[in-house]
Amino acid sequence: MPDYHKVKTYLSEQKYHFNTRRPDSEKTFRVVIRGLVNDTDELKDELNNKGLTVTQVLQLRKTGTKTAIPLFLVELPDSKPNKQIYSFSKILSQRISVEPEHRRRPPICTRCLDYSHTNKYCERKPRCGACSGAHQMLNCKQPSTDPPKCANCGGPHKGIWKGCPNYQRFLTRNTPPTEPHLPNNPSQPRPQPAPLPQRNAWTDRNSAPQTTRTDKHPP
Ligand SMILES: [Zn+2]
Ligand SMILES: [Zn+2]
Ligand SMILES: [Zn+2]
Repeated sequence: MPDYHKVKTYLSEQKYHFNTRRPDSEKTFRVVIRGLVNDTDELKDELNNKGLTVTQVLQLRKTGTKTAIPLFLVELPDSKPNKQIYSFSKILSQRISVEPEHRRRPPICTRCLDYSHTNKYCERKPRCGACSGAHQMLNCKQPSTDPPKCANCGGPHKGIWKGCPNYQRFLTRNTPPTEPHLPNNPSQPRPQPAPLPQRNAWTDRNSAPQTTRTDKHPP
């Protein structure tokens, strides 16, 4: 079929142009912008106004209901000016956070309820994720029917809840442009906290045999 051959030739020519026209400078990266209620065109215009070039803007939607949620996926050419997007904390006068697309959110330590580390090496004073008292959550004596109290913000939720306003503010403040999976940012390795000694005079003194016992089981 003559038409078929025509189409095939046309496509291979296109492919040729497509491939040769893509130097490294056209590599892109993607970020997620949280907390914005505008539409994609407004966001695109605003980013252009700020001197950024954008290849694609997509607003994420709830699966099922398809309602738009305040979460945008933005693709930009990989250039120095475009990397500025990580420093934005406000767009269209709204507080927002910018994260690399697949960034994992920092952990909340289940021992001290601080952010960015896990309980594995934590030797800090414990704070309860349920009642906010000075003990670990697994030793909590508060009945599970009592409302929780967040040790970070004082709100009526567990301290390990990632929806905590305190944690959300922490995410907004910490928008590092140096995530390990960003290929163009070799940058500094993340500081790792050195494990603290397991024993010291204080813990030795406290581990003396105790005369009281509790029958409370961990939740
Ligand atoms: Zn901790
Ligand atoms: Zn407690
Ligand atoms: Zn909270």
